[in-house]
Amino acid sequence: MFRILFRLYLVTIVSFSAAIYLVPDLVIQVFHERFVTYNLDYSRGLQTLIAKQFRAVPSEQWPALAAEMDKEFQPLHIVLNRNDDAEFTLDERERLRRGENVVRIGDWGWRTLAVAPLNEQMVVKMVVPPDPTDVSWLYWSINVLIGATMLACLLLWLRPHWRDLERLKGTAERFGKGHLSERTQISPSSNIGSLANVFDTMAGDIENLLNQQRDLLNAVSHELRTPLTRLDFGLALALSDDLPATSRERLQGLVAHIRELDELVLELLSYSRLQNPARLPEQVDVSLDEFIDSILGSVDEELESPEIVIDVLLNGQLERFSLDPRLTARALQNLLRNAMRYCEKRIQIGVQVCPKGCEIWVDDDGIGIPEEERERIFEPFYRLDRSRDRATGGFGLGLAISRRALEAQGGTLTAQPSPLGGARFRLWLPTPA
Ligand code: ADP
Repeated sequence: MFRILFRLYLVTIVSFSAAIYLVPDLVIQVFHERFVTYNLDYSRGLQTLIAKQFRAVPSEQWPALAAEMDKEFQPLHIVLNRNDDAEFTLDERERLRRGENVVRIGDWGWRTLAVAPLNEQMVVKMVVPPDPTDVSWLYWSINVLIGATMLACLLLWLRPHWRDLERLKGTAERFGKGHLSERTQISPSSNIGSLANVFDTMAGDIENLLNQQRDLLNAVSHELRTPLTRLDFGLALALSDDLPATSRERLQGLVAHIRELDELVLELLSYSRLQNPARLPEQVDVSLDEFIDSILGSVDEELESPEIVIDVLLNGQLERFSLDPRLTARALQNLLRNAMRYCEKRIQIGVQVCPKGCEIWVDDDGIGIPEEERERIFEPFYRLDRSRDRATGGFGLGLAISRRALEAQGGTLTAQPSPLGGARFRLWLPTPA
């Protein structure tokens, strides 16, 4: 907030100072004549009185009288001058010769000099000196106080705006992380009330759309499962009959397709459940090495080649950590299956716990993931280089499910290049509050 306050204040104070400095000069220049006549009228009485004093005595005594009046009029100066003195402008000399008073104006239209003619040659000047230092300082302190008051006003004005903007930002962040019921709760009377209202309406619409989409996906997936199971069952029965070898082969192919379809439906159901979880993630205190062990055990049979070496690096002291075992295992199993599919012969799992959370990474020495694809692979159904993936199977839902499983626990999942040469998937889970 202070950065925006500082910028706003800087803009205000600079424009205010520039205006104070330039605008009076401009106005005085444009209305110079009016300011001069006003000052002439204003000083006429005093100038007439001074001139009268001089005319009351012989001109030989004028210097002495000027010196005496100069003392009495301190800090103003009373000075005798010739009317053709080079100090006067041509215009001023002309006025003095005609017997007219002259005034000069300075900053803010204040008089700096007033001259009254005494006779054909002599004039008496009343010089207004600049303000003494202490008074100048007082004027400056007035400006500083005005500046401070402006700062206080800006702060007062900005605080509620800032609070509402922070709330809007927080809501947008939480909404983006999947908390679809988040709303700003900003009062309509706030200055950003209408913006917040638009945001809330948009959030409501998105929530409705996503819920509809999830419900549709759920319903379709559920509806698909029953006929799929029936088909699977029927084909299994048909296979048990005596069949010629070619028909048996064809039927076995069909069974494989149906199982694949069933797998896809199951994946879709998992994804749609994770997208809008019905229950809060669990928090179970697990021993991390045992947890990793059990996950490795669960994917062990899928290891295609016995040459693949899986290393586990447990950095630092082995600790326990609170996580949702079901969701985390789901994510890690997907990552390990992918690593097994795409590696050459090495997979490395690393675990590190720090006060802020737990980091687990899965490295492989495979072909890796191009930088520009490292975010897109987390989108559902997104698969890289189709020809490559068809051989390795998968629907492109595994990483989307893994990421959702971690985000549901407040964690993250990102893809990076691995020091082994392939891909690294970095899983981060924050320490529960
Ligand atoms: P799939 O089930 O098709 O593997 P995923 O969502 O798990 O879908 O992965 C999406 C895509 O990311 C995959 O098609 C694959 O191209 C790429 N990918 C995932 N893991 C790796 C990996 N370890 N190395 C290289 N590419 C990978």
